[in-house]
Amino acid sequence: MEYFSLNYNAKDVSFLEAVRKGLAPDRGLYFPKNIPKLEESFIKNLKKFSNHEIAYEVIKPYVGSDIDDNNLKKIIQETLNFDFPIVKITDKIAVIELFHGPSLAFKDVGARFMARCLSHDNFIKKGKNLTVLVATSGDTGGAVADGFFKVKGIDVIILYPKGKVSDIQERQLTTLGENITALEVNGSFDDCQDMVKTAFVDQELKDKIYLTSANSINIGRWLAQMFYYFIAYKNRPNPEKKLLISVPSGNFGNICAGILAQQMGLPINHFIASTNINDTIPEYLKSGDYFPKKSIQTISNAMDVGNPSNFIRIQRIFNNDFFKLKKLLSGYSFSDKMTEKAIKEIYKIKGYVSEPHGAIGFLGLKEFFNSKEEIDEYQGIFLETAHPVKFKSTVEGIIKTDIKTPKSIQKILDLKKNSFSISKYSELKSLLLSN
Ligand SMILES: *Cc1c(COP(=O)(O)O)cnc(C)c1O
Repeated sequence: MEYFSLNYNAKDVSFLEAVRKGLAPDRGLYFPKNIPKLEESFIKNLKKFSNHEIAYEVIKPYVGSDIDDNNLKKIIQETLNFDFPIVKITDKIAVIELFHGPSLAFKDVGARFMARCLSHDNFIKKGKNLTVLVATSGDTGGAVADGFFKVKGIDVIILYPKGKVSDIQERQLTTLGENITALEVNGSFDDCQDMVKTAFVDQELKDKIYLTSANSINIGRWLAQMFYYFIAYKNRPNPEKKLLISVPSGNFGNICAGILAQQMGLPINHFIASTNINDTIPEYLKSGDYFPKKSIQTISNAMDVGNPSNFIRIQRIFNNDFFKLKKLLSGYSFSDKMTEKAIKEIYKIKGYVSEPHGAIGFLGLKEFFNSKEEIDEYQGIFLETAHPVKFKSTVEGIIKTDIKTPKSIQKILDLKKNSFSISKYSELKSLLLSN
């Protein structure tokens, strides 16, 4: 498979080259030249295949000959080495838990897959070092740190805003060491992201070191997220009904992967983009006008995005046809107050403990059901994208019950934090050059 830039001003590249570059030289996102179709019999018989076998069939055409079959199978085994259970909340609504990975965030799958693919890149095998640079407002950093830990030939530098990530999240970034360096930035998440963006266009830096990104603009992270949708389809309750999936969305990488899976032939009837008050896409779906906004802080902070970078990929999937897109995708936005109420409501129904992002996914399904008459035709699934312990104080305050800390997290809470403090870009640059 070859990938082209959505700015249409860069040469096509292979899978591994796209992963290594992150963004195309013209600053465009990479997109596959065609969307492969899966055999109908494969989809019909999905239940007969293991998650590993499914993931292999799905991702193989995107990887092409860049990684040989045996290695690709190994990468998939190491990527999907935990469960994705589905829990029924009501007759019509179920949740798929994507947070059983090592950093307790759904981003683990994409980060693990990307890291392992890169370790097969000839560029790195030949002894060149690649630096992965990421800014995090919380969850991305932990997943990337864990996913790339001890991967040979790759150094990871994570920038996070001082005092603005939770204790658990900070320890996930700062306690690993080895090839993972954490930089505590005196500033906001936007300041961190600005520094990263400056580094990517700094010619002097680019002449000396090889830099790539590890957020969902990178196809290595983005494409692997398709796996969730196949697993959700395979294990869905009420298989006789039309499947509706609600995705708590920020940068729209995850939902875009779901739509790609659907385009490959997975029978998902409808998608719901559920957002917090950062409602650029729900507003777009109402009016057809795309107005990016400055992001607003909420309790579902991993979705505080005012200009979702992956939306351009969704538009491309539908050849920029607004009406085609609207047929498959609905969007609703919810305030913090509504989110808190939903966490309480979900807890009351089944004693199920959700967290702000998943709760917004739940609200999206309810809103869709409220707007339709033939709701009995549908089975809704929302994605639970993080473990509630990551939002411990918020969730415990709402449900008035303690959340148990998983053993894996308990361990890191005792480890010593290790990070460098920086305030401006020049400090980041000298650190990158001295590495
Ligand atoms: C990153 C993240 C999201 C949003 O995913 P996108 O792909 O950016 O839309 C939702 N929930 C949690 C917990 C996240 O960490």
